[in-house]
Amino acid sequence: MKKRALVTGSTQGIGLAIANQLAAAGHLVAIHGIESESVGNDIATAISVEFGTEVVYVRADLSNSDETLELVEKVEAALNGPLDILVNNAGIQNVASIGEFTLAKWSRLLDVNLTAPFILMKDVLEGMRERGWGRILNIASVHGLVGSVNKSAYLASKHGLVGLSKGIALEFATAGVTVNCICPGFTDTAILEPQIRARAEAVGGSREDGVKELLKEKQPNLKLLDPAHIGAAVVYLASDAGSGITGIQLPIDGGWTAQ
Ligand code: NAD
Repeated sequence: MKKRALVTGSTQGIGLAIANQLAAAGHLVAIHGIESESVGNDIATAISVEFGTEVVYVRADLSNSDETLELVEKVEAALNGPLDILVNNAGIQNVASIGEFTLAKWSRLLDVNLTAPFILMKDVLEGMRERGWGRILNIASVHGLVGSVNKSAYLASKHGLVGLSKGIALEFATAGVTVNCICPGFTDTAILEPQIRARAEAVGGSREDGVKELLKEKQPNLKLLDPAHIGAAVVYLASDAGSGITGIQLPIDGGWTAQ
């Protein structure tokens, strides 16, 4: 059945792939990002034309809680009705040792990766309870489950998102509302480029060598994951068939967390 969905951080990468898959499944979709209205509207129109469903763009900087607090209201006005599906996907990464991590960087990372999902979930949950149906998908990470060096702030944000999701899943378990995390391993998007560059420089090789170095340390399938496959999992968990699945962390990680 057609639902109204918001996917944060969906003008590129995993979020865009999720938005495409939700539109392909016939849902009304709000894409979101920090791009200008004209850039965002062009992306929304392209998805809408491809899949023949309504797609709107709403801009908000999630590092600014005032903008985050207005996002749901703006999206519901643009889609002419309440949200049934919320996908908290927007996220940032900073690779640095704890000694190099400034308080400003820590705060920004936590604002985008953890506080924004908290605000957005609070803004949709009671309405979902009243209507007896809702789906929340939080794009965490394998780093919500296991650790890696020089990623402590990111680890804190993603472990925090996993814990927050478990708690809300339990609070809403009888309300027809499910809350789940998807935990990707290395996926083929822009967020990885600084890490790929650093690995390539370390071995004096090409981008391809950088990708190989990154994968061989952590991801047994030795392939970057396809963002569309994360979109497909979101569509399933957001369907009626997903009604019995709540409070989980689904790794899509090429075997990373099996080790
Ligand atoms: P990406 O950099 O391509 O996309 C991140 C998105 O977040 C972008 O659309 C960006 O505009 C948005 N965003 C960043 N800062 C924002 C802000 N202040 N306000 C609003 N939006 C903001 O990377 P991606 O890989 O598509 O990342 C999507 C999610 O997947 C993130 O939460 C990331 O942590 C998670 N993830 C990615 C990987 C990976 O290997 N690519 C692995 C595990 C988890």
